[in-house]
Amino acid sequence: MKILVINCGSSSLKYQLINMEDETCLAQGLIERIGSEGSVLTQKVQGREKYIVKQIMQDHKDAIKLVLSTLIDGTNGVIKSVDEISAVGHRVVHGGEYYSKSVLIDEKVMKALEDCSKLAPLHNPPNIIGINSCKALMPSTPMVAVFDTAFHQNMPEHAYIYALPYELYEEHKIRKYGFHGTSHKYVSQVAAEMISKDIKDLKIISCHLGNGASIAAIKGGKSIDTSMGFTPLAGLAMGTRSGDIDPSIITFLMEELSLSSEELADLLNKKSGVLGISGISSDFRDLWDVAKNNKRAQLALDVFHYEVKKFICSYAGALGGVDCIIFTAGVGENSAKAREACCTGLEFLGVKIDSEKNNVAGIAAEISTSDSTVKVFVIPTNEELMIARDTKEVVSL
Ligand code: AMP
Repeated sequence: MKILVINCGSSSLKYQLINMEDETCLAQGLIERIGSEGSVLTQKVQGREKYIVKQIMQDHKDAIKLVLSTLIDGTNGVIKSVDEISAVGHRVVHGGEYYSKSVLIDEKVMKALEDCSKLAPLHNPPNIIGINSCKALMPSTPMVAVFDTAFHQNMPEHAYIYALPYELYEEHKIRKYGFHGTSHKYVSQVAAEMISKDIKDLKIISCHLGNGASIAAIKGGKSIDTSMGFTPLAGLAMGTRSGDIDPSIITFLMEELSLSSEELADLLNKKSGVLGISGISSDFRDLWDVAKNNKRAQLALDVFHYEVKKFICSYAGALGGVDCIIFTAGVGENSAKAREACCTGLEFLGVKIDSEKNNVAGIAAEISTSDSTVKVFVIPTNEELMIARDTKEVVSL
């Protein structure tokens, strides 16, 4: 069985074709600048040169058409016919309260996704366009929606209700949803395999630390709390996002600087985080490069690591202990210094990092000492594989 995984952004599209017999990636690609000049597809197939197609793509349908023709291309493709694709798994950012797991897409699901667009106006609309384009081009192929929010839908009420008038939850669905669910689910399953224990018996803290960053508390394989909230702006300070701030700062800025809601959203989403503190970059590598001689770059890193540490401690409390901590995503997978900084001071919890073992990047590894009571892992995330696995499961039912 071969499954095509599609992740549509507003002007970009990522894809992977995965062979589910051995879970290998047959081809992966990225299309950029859909709908503007210079639209381009780049496809990678293991053992081959990168294949680049520069072609005008007016919309996502054009983009998906090009994905399919590239996959079946006689020279650069990997399959003979589109009929070899058994199903398509779509990454969908927001499933609201409708979905706690992945679903086969039908008219009812499409309606629910439209409803959720209000909650994720930047993300759900392009996801919907991607699904509609695929449906038009592959009308008899089953499509599955895999939600970033689904994994967190089992959080208990006391974890997802904000201390606001309850009617705002009832009437406007204002609550914590959480994101990066596919990643947290994937790495927690891999961690359970790595310690040869049933995930049902484990208390795990998963730290997805990339440009966007979130932490999840996972008990018995289910998310019981997570740092992102109503939107992916909450929780940790991130590359450009503020994370949690005193809500009064919003009204203060509106009054003091006469900022509109749009300007505020821009400030909190795009000009804050480690970029805002440092004034240098949202890229953590750039900050490490100059931190020794630049106080604000060092401060940005310190704030980030301090917040990660605080979330780990609070989630150890929420879980009633912790068996393992996972680091994943760009920073978590690649930065030994960041992992060390996040774990220093957590010895009282039973966390001890082995600095030699910690000297790894981009591979799954245990980085805790043999006498650390909490196991600490680096686990590269693989959201596409998780989407493909869920898609296979849904279509096989
Ligand atoms: P992601 O959003 O998961 O792709 O992660 C992107 C972030 O990972 C960027 O801010 C990068 O700076 C960061 N990153 C990647 N490699 C490293 C590294 N070796 N050290 C520190 N940060 C890194």
